[in-house]
Amino acid sequence: MSETIFSKILDGEIPSHKVYEDDAVYAFLDISQVTKGHTLLIPKKASANIFETDSETMQHIGAALPKVANAIKAAFNPDGLNIIQNNGEYADQSVFHLHFHLLPRYENDIDGFGYKWETHEDQIDDKQKAQIAKEIVAQFE
Ligand code: 5GP
Repeated sequence: MSETIFSKILDGEIPSHKVYEDDAVYAFLDISQVTKGHTLLIPKKASANIFETDSETMQHIGAALPKVANAIKAAFNPDGLNIIQNNGEYADQSVFHLHFHLLPRYENDIDGFGYKWETHEDQIDDKQKAQIAKEIVAQFE
């Protein structure tokens, strides 16, 4: 895997504001601070994204996510928190070392985040949904 800015952060070559670390993961403030406390959680074992990681790495991430989320909650009492994870350029991934954004959300404070979440329930019927599910299920067989 090619070296990314996050491996340089892990090596200490590039400085970062660390918020949590254990043997397998590292969490630090995202430079962009889309919302106050915007944090990135990364595994120390490098992989490009969700398509290339392994289940052991994800177990470490899974154990750390609620810890970091609860620390942010206790620190800033946000009104909510989104966990966002981008895979591939088209899905807005810009750094190709697996990472999870923890984005605290604030009703009455700086909050520079928004989603467009368009539903298509009226355009896809049950028969089509069954076919879509079938095509995914087939990948497990
Ligand atoms: P992506 O777009 O790949 O999901 O997210 C990459 C994130 O890395 C962006 O939110 C960006 O602000 C953050 N980022 C890029 N370079 C640096 C850096 O040098 N330091 C820190 N702390 N964050 C960075």
